[in-house]
Amino acid sequence: MNQPDDFYWMNKALEQAASVMFVTTPNPRVGCVIVKNRQLLGQGATQKAGGPHAEVCAIHNAQDNGHDLAGSTFYVTLEPCSHYGKTPPCVDAIIAARPARVVIAMADPNPLVGGRGIARLQEAGIEVHCNLLAEQALALNPGFISRMLTGRPWVWTKLASSLDGRMALYNGQSQWITSAAARADGHYWRARSCVVLTGLGTVLHDDPLMTVRSLATPRQPVRAIIDSRFAVPETARIFNGEPVWVFTTHLDEAKAARLLAKNVQLIVMPEKNGHVDLDAVLAWMGKQQINEVHVEAGPGLNGALLQAGLLDELLLYMAPKILGDAHGLFRLPVLNELDQAYQFDFFETQTFAPDLRLRARLQNRWDTLLNSVVHK
Ligand SMILES: [Zn+2]
Repeated sequence: MNQPDDFYWMNKALEQAASVMFVTTPNPRVGCVIVKNRQLLGQGATQKAGGPHAEVCAIHNAQDNGHDLAGSTFYVTLEPCSHYGKTPPCVDAIIAARPARVVIAMADPNPLVGGRGIARLQEAGIEVHCNLLAEQALALNPGFISRMLTGRPWVWTKLASSLDGRMALYNGQSQWITSAAARADGHYWRARSCVVLTGLGTVLHDDPLMTVRSLATPRQPVRAIIDSRFAVPETARIFNGEPVWVFTTHLDEAKAARLLAKNVQLIVMPEKNGHVDLDAVLAWMGKQQINEVHVEAGPGLNGALLQAGLLDELLLYMAPKILGDAHGLFRLPVLNELDQAYQFDFFETQTFAPDLRLRARLQNRWDTLLNSVVHK
């Protein structure tokens, strides 16, 4: 049974989790608050990998303030871990604190946890309540949950277009379709991702750095390029000494060795229809513990990812401008029937004046993730 204050306190725990958005990867963003007699005793969020998890941070915070946690309620955004990873299991620390209740937003489909955290708490005589604000908790960690469930990251593509869905003029002009506010928000999405993925065409055309710049972050995502023929210029600005992955089907050892000196890793992938097999790229990233992939690319790579069924989410900034005959967002074969269209569902709109930000996703993929974190 939910108690009247449960939503309030779980929202506080979600705020804790959101506060470590750029910190915890490859671990999930998790928050915890501890409450007794409607009073906050302690709170915390998961730290950098290898550091303490949210539950232990909250327990220490409460104990540092001299509180006795017996009879308290824990609010945790993810099922507490029950296995030894880099740190001891959080369920042991919770049980030792002797709370009366533990409220959990979502279960952990991690095969190492898989409901055992919840079971351990119940066996210790603690009342456990699950699935409170599960969808909000999932929204903070779609990549981690996707990786646990399917072995591959959650992928969104950042798009900027005119009202008529055009991204660039035929003469190539494209950089400033959307406003400074919209472009700054794009850096938030780069910052929370583990990988910023682009294509050779964007590197050749825009020569971008693809780094996070308009906000402070303790870590930069890895930048990655899909470059089937390994034609990327060695002088590209993206090779700035920080890690870059280049996915190709074409091995050139001499060029690879020169780029390695610039911290560039060449990854030779299987070929599919004459290009890098994008399924294989995402499976490889999953093995590297990549949770979220932010795509920022032209119509070629966007079209290929869409056709391969690999775009989970669209992040579209739309300016109230009409460009008329110009480049579209996705290069795709011509469709003959409307029911062949790629179908997404809008789930959020926000204004970044004068532009709009639209978010849409593959609803069935989202529902699969959500279903996996709901404790039955
Ligand atoms: Zn833990």
